[in-house]
Amino acid sequence: MTSPLIFLDRTSRARDEVLSNAARAATGLQACGVAEGDTVALLLRNDFAFVEATQAAALIGAYCVPINWHGRAQEIGYILKDAKPKVLVAHADLLAAARDELREILSDIQVLSVPTPPELIRQFGVSAGAETPIATDRSWPDWLAEFQPWSAAPPRSRATLIYTSGTTGHPKGVKREPATPEQTKAYGELMRSVYGITPGVRVLIGGPLYHASPNACLRQAITQAELIAFQSKFEPEDTLAIIERERITHAVMVPTMFVRLMRLPEEIRRRHDVSSLRWVIHTGAPCAPEIKKALMDWWGPVIYETYGGTEVGAVMLSTPEDWLAHSGSVGRPTPGARIALYGEDGQPVGPGEIGEIYVRQDSLADFVYLNDAAKRKSVERDGLISVGDVGYLKDGRLYLCDRRSDMVISAGVNIYPAEIETALIQCPGVRDCAVFGIPDEEFGESLAAAIEAEPGSELTTDMVRAYLAERIAKYKVPRRIDFHAALPREESGKIFKRRLKDPFWKDAGRRI
Ligand code: ATP
Repeated sequence: MTSPLIFLDRTSRARDEVLSNAARAATGLQACGVAEGDTVALLLRNDFAFVEATQAAALIGAYCVPINWHGRAQEIGYILKDAKPKVLVAHADLLAAARDELREILSDIQVLSVPTPPELIRQFGVSAGAETPIATDRSWPDWLAEFQPWSAAPPRSRATLIYTSGTTGHPKGVKREPATPEQTKAYGELMRSVYGITPGVRVLIGGPLYHASPNACLRQAITQAELIAFQSKFEPEDTLAIIERERITHAVMVPTMFVRLMRLPEEIRRRHDVSSLRWVIHTGAPCAPEIKKALMDWWGPVIYETYGGTEVGAVMLSTPEDWLAHSGSVGRPTPGARIALYGEDGQPVGPGEIGEIYVRQDSLADFVYLNDAAKRKSVERDGLISVGDVGYLKDGRLYLCDRRSDMVISAGVNIYPAEIETALIQCPGVRDCAVFGIPDEEFGESLAAAIEAEPGSELTTDMVRAYLAERIAKYKVPRRIDFHAALPREESGKIFKRRLKDPFWKDAGRRI
């Protein structure tokens, strides 16, 4: 099958061409000294080179570590030092921006530079000259053309090393041992039941490939899909145009994309035929039920949600039908998943009681945190793993309250900011928001809201307070409300609350 991979600006490549480049790159990586069990790092936006390098590393059995390229040079340096890759494949402009600060670390790593494609230059405003590899770098397309395709059989593994998002601290390297044949088979079935990907589907990957969920979807789709479209940057109207033009059946998205799609003027929304959609999955961050409901009114009952984390994979799944009947839940365990909730006293809690969520996905091999064995012990209980979330089970379905570290204790009362954010995001004029705890002399902690307003909106703090007061209990209305030009929200849908919270806690000492 020589179906194309479609890029945002209609740049398409046949799958065979991409796979053949990957096979050449595998031979090239081996010539660079990369062997099974070594690490290759990627600092790439969504691009064909990302797919090629991922596939090349898989052929050798090397770990492929995609780095969040939004990170500052320091954050990129943290992962490079931690993962110790032999090779770094990077877009020329991202490399140019970080090179000075990373000079020392890069002196131990072989760098392959990918010319930044014209569409990315346009989308990201790359400065002239930065898109071309500098003369001393090896340029990815020229370099891989020097090699014969890899011909050895790939290793049996699915050994992976992928970093968590780092929303609660430094990203943690989650390193998984090779899977057993039984796990590999069960994992294939899990991916089918979560992403719905079967031969012949037409997939749109809206999120960044460095994030676990789009990445897992790509790996599944590359062998099965008739067509894969991926976007370099999310633009809601482009997304609708791609769905219509390519007759997309399956898509991976994040809740912030849903919000932006719903905010398009109705005439634009109606202009596009999205009737080909059968399975749109989202994960990684909470989605306000009203937004999801409105999207299903428009797209039909096609929105699936999965809950999980880098360490535990996809452990819960909510189908559209089940979600419509039990809105707000993240569903029931996926095949192979186990779940238990524990209270603060370390004892299991009963149905409906709030506790810390512990889960495990048996189709995944066990993991270690790279360079931090002690951390691994601290997250395990009775063979299950916590990724730091709090919630409750009702009729076998999981409802999330919030991240444990985001819970606010104000005057001794536990408050989950996610509940307030769900109300706030629907306030007219609010484009994005985050609620978090700040030090308070009287209550220990009180609530603060950071708001990114819609361009041109005349929203005031009084209007926000009045809106919330009608919808949530008075003690949950944030005492402090600040407007920001932009919030530190990632393309993967996650918000980096630390960056908003830290200035308040700097002098007060950390609560957590
Ligand atoms: P770090 O562990 O470094 O702080 P992280 O936990 O954000 O980063 P990931 O493993 O990428 O890193 O994300 C897992 C987290 O994403 C979960 O613990 C949960 O808080 C959130 N999440 C996943 N799925 C959902 C969902 N369906 N709804 C709400 N939140 C979700």
